Amino acid sequence: GRSVHQIQSGQVIVDLCSVVKELVENSLDAGATSIGRIPSPAPDVELDVRFKGNGLDAIEVQDNGNGIAPEDFETIALKHYTSKLSSYDDLTSLHTFGFRGEALSSLCALSNFHITTARASDVPRGTKLDFEQSGKLKSKSVIASQKGTTVAVEKIFQNLPVRRKELEKNIKREYAKVLSLLQSYACISTGVRFSVSNHPGKGNKVVAFSTKSNSSTRDNISNVYGAKTVLALLTLDLELEMQSASGPSTQSARSWGTQDDGSKKIQVRGHISRPVVGEGRQTPDRQMFFVNSRPCTLPQVAKAINEVYKSYNVTQSPFIFANLLMDTNAYDVNVSPDKRTILLHDQTALLESLKSSLVELFDRHDQ
Ligand code: ADP
Ligand code: MG
Repeated sequence: GRSVHQIQSGQVIVDLCSVVKELVENSLDAGATSIGRIPSPAPDVELDVRFKGNGLDAIEVQDNGNGIAPEDFETIALKHYTSKLSSYDDLTSLHTFGFRGEALSSLCALSNFHITTARASDVPRGTKLDFEQSGKLKSKSVIASQKGTTVAVEKIFQNLPVRRKELEKNIKREYAKVLSLLQSYACISTGVRFSVSNHPGKGNKVVAFSTKSNSSTRDNISNVYGAKTVLALLTLDLELEMQSASGPSTQSARSWGTQDDGSKKIQVRGHISRPVVGEGRQTPDRQMFFVNSRPCTLPQVAKAINEVYKSYNVTQSPFIFANLLMDTNAYDVNVSPDKRTILLHDQTALLESLKSSLVELFDRHDQ
């Protein structure tokens, strides 16, 4: 039968998107510097994401980050193992947990998993690490390697037959979802050179898209979606107020974005297509949302923006790239198992203010 470790891992890693999200965030973290409480990758990070068989055969994420220290080899995939569920009750309430330290150990349980890593001081030598399903280090060997880390996930869900069958059946759709997620990371990560490719199995490697390092979000969007898309975009740079229900706050007044009167400021930065009627479709139907530069889904914000857009009698939906910068106290991340749906506190006032700011922006550019 399946071990508790496998069952639990299957709730952390639910699909291809969760695999890629965890690996990409680890790679971004590997070269990261921290500005306040918002992590941001160091400049000149390179990230190469390779799929084989649309991800069914393998997903490899390679970075040029700091690598893994030899003293961590034994524990890396075990980390926080003891902080995980200890009783059946915890299984059902798992979605309320943070998943810190659970990604690698979960991937060991669900796939054929290995790592190649080298620190700057190690190159041109690196170490290949193989793990047991429990996350225990099975073997290590010296191989040639550049600085950085490559994490390989082969045959994901191989030991969860129902999940594996389901994935095989829906692989086209799942791969498309994974590409959208990677496009979001690539567009928001201005310091990072992204390269994403797929080796479908028969035929040659296909480069899905790539971006350059040290480019603006606009450049990234241009590289990912084409130069034509960028021409149709207005710059979003809004400053909104989010009234705190609890009134004036003295305790949190010093934290980021909080004003003395208790209201909170939220910045919305990004790009949105003009609501032009009668023009041919120039922009792809893509809506990307971020909170503090992390890709997420914000259904209520999306709905509000689309409503404004519709009020201009435009039938196509807008291209949206919106990064909401705000205090980390202003939202909850753990409302969905994949941590991607974000719940904003006090959002009624925010949504109203967002709508009127958008109307103002569109009217200013209405020519
Ligand atoms: P978490 O990211 O929450 O710490 P993970 O299971 O995702 O937990 O990763 C465990 C640890 O493995 C990380 O804390 C980090 O030390 C190390 N690690 C994972 N991926 C990389 C990488 N690409 N480069 C360097 N270290 C990594
Ligand atoms: Mg992680």
